This record gives sequence, structure tokens and C-alpha cells, in this order.
Amino acid sequence: MRTKIAVANGDGIGPEIMQAVLKVFEANNVPLEYEFVEMGKSYFDAGHSTGMTAKAKETIETLGILFKGPMETPKGKGVKSINVTARKVWNTYANQRDFRTLNGVDTVFSKAGIPINLTIIRENIEDTYGGIEHLLTYDVAVGRRIITRPGSAQVIRYAFEMAKRKGLKKLACGHKANIMKLTDGLFLETFQEIAKEYPEIEASDIIVDDLCMKLVTRPETFEAIVLTNLQGDIVSDLCAGLVGGLGFAPSANIGDNISIFEAVHGTAPDIAGKGIANPTALLLSGISMLRFLGFSKNAADIENALLYTLEQGVHTGDFGNKAIPASNTNAFTDAIIANIGQVPANGGVFSNPDFEARVSHLQPIKNKLTVTKNIKEEMIGVDVFVEARVQPNELAEMAKKVLTDNFELVMISNRGTQVWPTGSIYTELVNEYRVRFEKKAGKEITQKELLHIAADFSELAKVCSVEFLMNFDGKIGYTLAQGQ
Ligand code: NAD
Repeated sequence: MRTKIAVANGDGIGPEIMQAVLKVFEANNVPLEYEFVEMGKSYFDAGHSTGMTAKAKETIETLGILFKGPMETPKGKGVKSINVTARKVWNTYANQRDFRTLNGVDTVFSKAGIPINLTIIRENIEDTYGGIEHLLTYDVAVGRRIITRPGSAQVIRYAFEMAKRKGLKKLACGHKANIMKLTDGLFLETFQEIAKEYPEIEASDIIVDDLCMKLVTRPETFEAIVLTNLQGDIVSDLCAGLVGGLGFAPSANIGDNISIFEAVHGTAPDIAGKGIANPTALLLSGISMLRFLGFSKNAADIENALLYTLEQGVHTGDFGNKAIPASNTNAFTDAIIANIGQVPANGGVFSNPDFEARVSHLQPIKNKLTVTKNIKEEMIGVDVFVEARVQPNELAEMAKKVLTDNFELVMISNRGTQVWPTGSIYTELVNEYRVRFEKKAGKEITQKELLHIAADFSELAKVCSVEFLMNFDGKIGYTLAQGQ
């Protein structure tokens, strides 16, 4: 019985490396059946705004697995990246990237005899990848960074489960909660909560800049790291560099219903069509997919053949010993196929717990909605963001005109730095201010009153946006200005 999966060839080198990987699968009698789907640049060009046909979407949603080549998103057409859209729409919330020292792939660390074996779990849906950005004034662009409790819990739990399955001793949370106190703060708080359920795993946290420095100086001290989306994106490419570059970086986007397997690298337009691309990253991603589908014997056979081939010094032009002539994609692929049944010097891989085999593909009947219940909310005030070309004290006088008995003007900031009631004459200003109104002690206020303040203010200055100030369970739900 063959398992059917959706396959998208991708753009640039995509078709060349996909063909190579499927040829290796065929040589090992992998029990898969492929339904090729229409996705990528040419489908954007043909007018499909999401970069895929309706049939492709339906096929992927029905089959639950997409194995894809890299895809190009047309620039300057205002369309969103198909790669990011696919991960978000289908809620593949955990991006798992396993980085290992590979024999035959020389790096600074392999030459120094320092083996690397670490996994990055990157949150894959939220953060700035929501792509919610606005120009508030001609001079000021603002992007929303969305970090949610359910989204964080989903990926952090996945990371702990992965660590447990692999028998890891440690899991670190990379973050910047010292600066982004509410967004990264929520991610870190969720990590610390969930860590209590896994006492056998040593949970620690590390500020992301320190993490980058330590990954470069002592990569062998890390086993697994979970991060928010953008930080995870950057850190995982750094880790790819530690083990030989993007040509060796596989990526699995895991969701509860749909999962996507792809290489980390892009379409490599500079070498597309030349038949010289390195298929290793896509092959490693395919091996992960086989494990995820429960075909662990095929995965082990192919991984052993790949490792053995690399050990023999066979390489494409982008890596390896320059004294040995480079193979093209076909010759490299044929060498792997010829080596099926061989075992690398380390004794070979037989069972590998990187992925848990999925039980079945579920098709939900409605969108899942997750809400934390029984939280006491209190409305405190409002931040009104306005466009103004005046000095802070002049803006304060304007703001006082819209005050009612229930409210007081608390502070004004510019680019997040307080400039009223106190500030520094050295703080440079742009034409967008935040004006904070809070209720007076003991007063009850409504959201309508807060909106009235903003509406009245709009008669004096252009209101760019409005954010409400809330407390949740008695804890402050907004940040103070720098210097407040
Ligand atoms: P890239 O990864 O395509 O290329 C960077 C460099 O690495 C190039 O020199 C390229 O030749 C080389 N390279 C990459 N993969 C290789 C391979 N398998 N074998 C040999 N050499 C390889 O990055 P880029 O040039 O920044 O992006 C090109 C396009 O790819 C862009 O349109 C981008 O949006 C897209 N992209 C897609 C994905 C994806 O589908 N997940 C990821 C990243 C970039």
C-alpha cells in the first residue's frame, strides 16, 4: 500500500533537485505515490494571487503532506511569499531543522574535531511574519509583532516532546525578553510553564544575541533550542553555516494536520538549469519526511547511502575537497543510488527519533479556535498615535483639550522614548507621537469613552492608530515608554 503525497517541483534548481531526490526514492522502492501540484512563480505570473491553483490547495489539504522544491516569489508585485503563506495558512507551527556534522563536509568545527548535533525549533506562524505593516506617516513605518499564548504553547510543547523522544538532556529557549517584555516575555513565560511538565529535561533560557555568540564559539554545548519566528529564522541559518552551509540544511514544517518538507535554501537562480545543484538538503528533508511517514527503514537506507557517498569524497561544486573533481547533480545522485546498502564509518543510522511517525491525517471540519478562559480584564486607558509637527509641550496642550473628568494625560513618547512630561532636549523627533491617556484612580471607564478621546483628538491632529491599555488578572498589559 503506497502513501500518496503532494509534490511541488518548485522554481530555479527546484525541478533538478526534486528529480534527483525522487530518483533516489525510486531506487530504494520507497512506498510513496506522488501527486504533482501547481505552485510557484509561473502560477503567480498566470494570475493566481497565492501562487498556487485551487486544485493544488485542495490536493495538499486532502493528502496532508507537501514535499516541495524552493519557490520564487515575484518581487515588487505586492504578493506575499508563497513559502511563508503555505506555512501559515496550513498552520505548520513548528519548523524543525536538524544540523549535524557530516563526514566529507569540511567546516571549521569538523577540522577542529568538534562534532555538532543540534536541533533548532522555530515558531513558524507568528511574529513579524504576519506581515502586518503600515506607513503611519510618510516618514514612519510600523510592523506588528504577534506572539500568542496558544501559538507559543503549541511550538514549545512540540520542542519538549521532540527533546524527550530524542533522549536529549537540554532544551534552551532563545529570546529577547529583556527588551520585548510582553511579546518575547510571553514566549519565555510559556516556555517556563511548559518546562515544569518535563522535569527530565534541563530547561534554560538565553538572550538571543548571547546565543549567537555562544553558537559560534561553543556550538557543541547546545542540544536543542526553541525560538520565535524571526530570531529562529536567523539563528537557524547561522547553524546551517556551522555544518557546511545551506546545501546541507533540511527543514520540516510540522503541523497537526498538514506538514511541509523542503530545503532551507532558495531557488539558486545563478546555477538553475546547469545541472550542478546539490540535492543534499532536499534529500535530507525527504529523509525526515520518510521518518515522519513511518518509513524509517527507507530513511535509514538512504541516509546511510548519502553519508557513505559524502565520506567517499563525492561532491557537487558547492562543497567538498577541491582536489577531487566535482560531480554534477546526476552523477552525485547516481553515486548515492549505487551506495544504497553501504554503511558509513560511524556505523550507520538505523533508527532515528528526529520525527515521530504521524498517526493519521486529520481533516478538521471547522477552524480551531483556542482561548485562555476566566481571565479578569480591566480597561486602563488608551494610546493615541498621532501625526504632528509640533514640539511635545505644544502637543500636550492640544491633548489636554480632549480630556474629560475621568482621564488624565500621562505621557507622550516619540519613537518609544518619553518626551513629555519630562524628556531630554537631545531626543530627536519624527512626525509621529504616542499620546497616553489613563483613567483617574477609582474611575470606571468604557471603550466608547476611549474611542471618543481619539475621535475628539482627530479634530486637532491626524490620528494614525489607537491601542487600548489593559490589565489582565491584575498584571499590566502594556509597556512603559523608555524613560517613563
Ligand atoms: P539561494 O539559497 O537560492 O542561493 C544562495 C546561494 O547559495 C547561491 O549562490 C546559490 O547558487 C547557492 N545555493 C543554494 N542552494 C544550492 C544548492 N542546492 N546547490 C548549490 N548551490 C546552492 O538564496 P537567494 O539567492 O537569496 O534566493 C533566490 C530565490 O529563492 C528568491 O526568489 C527567494 O525568495 C527564494 N527562496 C525560496 C525559499 C523557499 O522556497 N523555501 C527559501 C529561500 C529563498
